[in-house]
Amino acid sequence: MLNIVLFGPPGAGKGTQSEKLVEAFKLVHLSTGDIFRYNIKNNTELGLLAKSYMDKGNLVPDEVTINMLEAEVKKYPEAKGFIFDGFPRTTAQAIALDNFLESMGTSISLMLALQVDEEELIKRLLLRGQDSGRADDTDESIIRNRINVYNEQTAVAADFYNKQGKFHSINGVGSKEEIFDRLSSVIVEKNR
Ligand code: ADP
Repeated sequence: MLNIVLFGPPGAGKGTQSEKLVEAFKLVHLSTGDIFRYNIKNNTELGLLAKSYMDKGNLVPDEVTINMLEAEVKKYPEAKGFIFDGFPRTTAQAIALDNFLESMGTSISLMLALQVDEEELIKRLLLRGQDSGRADDTDESIIRNRINVYNEQTAVAADFYNKQGKFHSINGVGSKEEIFDRLSSVIVEKNR
């Protein structure tokens, strides 16, 4: 299997690039943010819980997120591989994912981390907020909180994969095609 963690701060382009990568490499895309938003839209209990954290730009608790993610993976027994987008976001989530994939007889192949500077991220998120309808993209103080949460709680998860020799840093500034080419060449190189 080809299991990729697409990593990076909010607004780095994980969702956009995931769409292109799933098509090119025939993978299943699992975005924890999208799954939470789907639950919010459908007024589920999980959605109600997640919303209280997401609206403030904080992380949904690990246990809830991990259980949800594992249930999603199990829905695709025939998958050739997964793109994990927005997960793991803490070291505890990374450890849980490793253990879970091991129990399924597989593992993470690589982490691709998109690098974009902070001012560019804020610009992109405010722009996205103009038509995405996402409450967490319209308020600059919430955006800044999400970037702080990323720096304080999420960025360390990269060390976990770095220690395993799976971490790859990718320049996330450029055209969508340029960035896609950078990501694809690492995947192809690794898969040879
Ligand atoms: P972005 O990358 O732009 O922040 P996401 O859609 O990935 O957007 O995430 C939106 C929100 O969903 C996060 O701010 C957080 O509240 C919640 N969330 C998503 N993934 C996770 C996760 N793995 N752990 C905890 N909370 C998460």
